[in-house]
Amino acid sequence: PIVLGIETSCDETGIALVRGQELLVDVTASSMDEHARFGGIVPEVASRAHLEAFGPTLTAAVERAGLTLGDIDAVAVTSGPGLVGSLTVGVAAAKSLALGLGVPLYGVNHILGHVAVDVLVDGPFPEEFLGLVVSGGHSSLLHVRDIATDVVELGQTLDDAAGEAFDKVGRLLGLPYPGGPHVDKLAQQGDPEAFAFPRGLSKPKDLAAHAYNFSFSGLKTAVARVVEGFTDRGEEVPAADVAASFSEAVADVLVTKTLAACAKHDVRCVVIGGGFSANSRLRSLATERFGDAGIEVRIPPIRYCTDNGAMIAALGSAVVTAGLPPSDFAITIDSQMPLTQVLATA
Ligand code: ATP
Ligand code: FE
Ligand code: MG
Repeated sequence: PIVLGIETSCDETGIALVRGQELLVDVTASSMDEHARFGGIVPEVASRAHLEAFGPTLTAAVERAGLTLGDIDAVAVTSGPGLVGSLTVGVAAAKSLALGLGVPLYGVNHILGHVAVDVLVDGPFPEEFLGLVVSGGHSSLLHVRDIATDVVELGQTLDDAAGEAFDKVGRLLGLPYPGGPHVDKLAQQGDPEAFAFPRGLSKPKDLAAHAYNFSFSGLKTAVARVVEGFTDRGEEVPAADVAASFSEAVADVLVTKTLAACAKHDVRCVVIGGGFSANSRLRSLATERFGDAGIEVRIPPIRYCTDNGAMIAALGSAVVTAGLPPSDFAITIDSQMPLTQVLATA
C-alpha cells in the first residue's frame, strides 16, 4: 500500500510517500531560520509556518512521486510527542485528507518513527534489535522485536537529552542556535582528550540502578565550569578542545551503554536514529566499537536523522502491515505521547 506520512511535531514540515518499505518521495520545509535569532523554537511561529508550508509541500511530494492524491491508500501523521500547536496543524490536515480521500488515518509516535525510517535505507529489520533514539528531546534505548507492535524501553535520559545538552553547550561556547551541528563541527578540530569530562551514570553504584539510563546535565555543568575557569582567568576558551572532549564523553556513554545492553539481551543489531544521530563522533565511535564487537550498526543518512516525513510514512506503513486498527477521527494530539504507545488514542 502507498502511505502518506505527515510530520509537523516541531519546526519541520515533512511530507513523504512510501510503498511498503520503499521510499517514493520525501519533502521537508523548515522554519528554523525564523527561530534562530530567538535562540529557540517560537511555538506560534512554528505553527503558522506549518500552516503555510503544508499545501505546497504536499503538492510537491505528490508531483515528484509522479502520483495523484487518489493513489494514496492510508495517511499517517505524528500525533506526539512535540509542540501542541505544531502537532495540531499536522493532525488536522491529516484528518481532512484521510476523510476527503476516504482512506484510513493513523496517528503515530514521532520517536518510534526515528527508528522506523531506517528500514527505507538499510532494508528490512532483523527479528530483534536495539533502537537508540537520540534527539532534541529524547535519549532512549529500546528493545525492538516489531517496531509497530513490540517495543520495550530499556532506559532513557533522567535529565537532558543528548541534542539538548549539545544545544546548551553551544550556547556556552557562544555558537549560533541550534548549537548541536556547530559544536560537532568545532569538535572535529579539537583534542577529545584535552579535558576528562564525566560519563554520567557510569560508576558501578549508578550502573546497578541505571545500567541503561542516561544523564547529561552533570556533564553540561562540568563543561560550564571549565569554560568559566578560562573566562575568569581572562584566558581564551579553547573551544575546539572543549567541544571535542564533550562530544567524546556523550558518544562514549551512549555507545558503552548500548553495547552493554546488546550483551545482556544477546542482540546483534543496533539501529540509531533521531537528530543527534547526525553527530559525527557518535557515528564514528559506534561504527568502530560495534564493529569490533561484531554487532551490526545501522544509522540512516543525516537527512533521515533529523525530523522528516519519511519516518512517519515508514512507521505508518509498518503499522498497516502489522494489521493494527486505524485511528479514530476523534484522536487528539498528545504532546507527551509515551514511547510505549505507537498509535494515538481518541
Ligand atoms: P524529539 O525527536 O525528541 O521530539 P526533535 O524532533 O526536536 O526532538 P530532532 O529534530 O530529532 O529533535 O533533533 C534535533 C536535535 O539534534 C537538536 O538538539 C540538534 O542540535 C541536534 N543535532 C543535529 N545535528 C547534530 C550534530 N551533528 N551533532 C550534535 N547534535 C546535532
Ligand atoms: Fe525528532
Ligand atoms: Mg527539528
